[in-house]
Amino acid sequence: MAYSYEAPVSQSLFDRASVVTPGGVNSPVRAFRAVGGTPRFMVSGTGPYLTDADGREYVDLVCSWGPMILGHSHPEVIAAVQEAVSRGTSFGTPGEGEVALAEEIVARIEPVEQVRLVSSGTEATMSAIRLARGFTGRAKVVKFAGCYHGHVDALLAAAGSGVATFGLPDTPGVTGATAGDTVVLPYNDLDAVRAAFAAHPGEIACVITEASPGNMGVVPPADGFNAGLKELCAANGALYISDEVMTGFRTSKAGWYGVDGVRPDLMTFGKVMGGGFPAAAFGGRADVMAHLAPAGPVYQAGTLSGNPVATAAGLAQLRLLDDAAYAKIDAVSAELRSLVGDALSKEGVAHTVSAASNMFSVFFTDRPVRDYEDAKKQDVFRFTAFFHSMLEQGVYLPPSAFESWFVSTAHDERAVERIAAALPAAARAASEATA
Ligand code: PLP
Repeated sequence: MAYSYEAPVSQSLFDRASVVTPGGVNSPVRAFRAVGGTPRFMVSGTGPYLTDADGREYVDLVCSWGPMILGHSHPEVIAAVQEAVSRGTSFGTPGEGEVALAEEIVARIEPVEQVRLVSSGTEATMSAIRLARGFTGRAKVVKFAGCYHGHVDALLAAAGSGVATFGLPDTPGVTGATAGDTVVLPYNDLDAVRAAFAAHPGEIACVITEASPGNMGVVPPADGFNAGLKELCAANGALYISDEVMTGFRTSKAGWYGVDGVRPDLMTFGKVMGGGFPAAAFGGRADVMAHLAPAGPVYQAGTLSGNPVATAAGLAQLRLLDDAAYAKIDAVSAELRSLVGDALSKEGVAHTVSAASNMFSVFFTDRPVRDYEDAKKQDVFRFTAFFHSMLEQGVYLPPSAFESWFVSTAHDERAVERIAAALPAAARAASEATA
């Protein structure tokens, strides 16, 4: 597909990057491979807008994949960072900032009695699984196809359908032995979970699930699914791990737990809690967390864990996220969902706008999407045409049909108007696209 607009400075940066960095990027989705074209190199962000190296401004509907829930360069977050950085950038000792951030998390999310700070969502899920295995003395982990938990070796197994399929590594470099203790099941299928517990009695350490998945597009849990997982885990001596790296502090003040109230044994967090810096966490039941070093025998550590600048940013951001902030994000999300749906309907494009609280994405199919297999059946080529039309008109969407769209408190009327103005042409492009 050829695009009618160009981004020469981004292209030349991408050419330079491709010499020194595999594929030119430090995280694969940024390379635009799913949609084609030149990835935009961003130089600054203010409120709901990003500016690229060619000087073009975009309304940002990615928000750094979730963290920038107050928009870019929020003055109070920036001030907190500047204050922290003026005192030094890392001490390798305990500090008050990490205590305050842990207290804020514990105060907001009732099932979290204790929390350990780490630097990425990947570290959080990897550590939570190690802890679950250490606590239960069992090896197997149940995960769901289409749920992403970071690039943890044992969790990079998503293939396989049907009941109790053994995980097959999704990538070279993950050995069969590493993924062999991973049982991959179809999402939203409690019967499959029941069958897995029956097939592996006393062997399953934990079930890990995205609290409400956003990594196959937005596919919320069916009514009773999370509660059913919790119940099956409890009945079989396994831990229920809710991955709230994406939903945490976004879908409500208490994340997805604040929406469905199902009480996990362990939870993982990242994104919003770091305020745009590398900070993440895992936490939960105190008796389980007590198994973590140095209190207990399960080893876990990090040179930059609880970094003072990252914790200052995260804390400043969380403290600004009050009920009014969530009401605003929810309202903007609802408005955008309806604008997108209307524009696509007007052009006769088959679609489903799928939402979980204020997270949403558009599937280019009118069939219901309950799991990864359903999600894959959409007309991805229509998304590609839609994406590029929006990009050309100054709206930055996630460069993949299988990602959540994110909004912030900074998405004001003007930003929404700019998105609304771009939608008719993008919907037409989607309607005219061919496979
Ligand atoms: N878990 C979920 C649900 C995620 O969405 C992600 C990242 O997108 C991760 C874990 C991994 O987080 P990170 O990219 O910070 O390692």
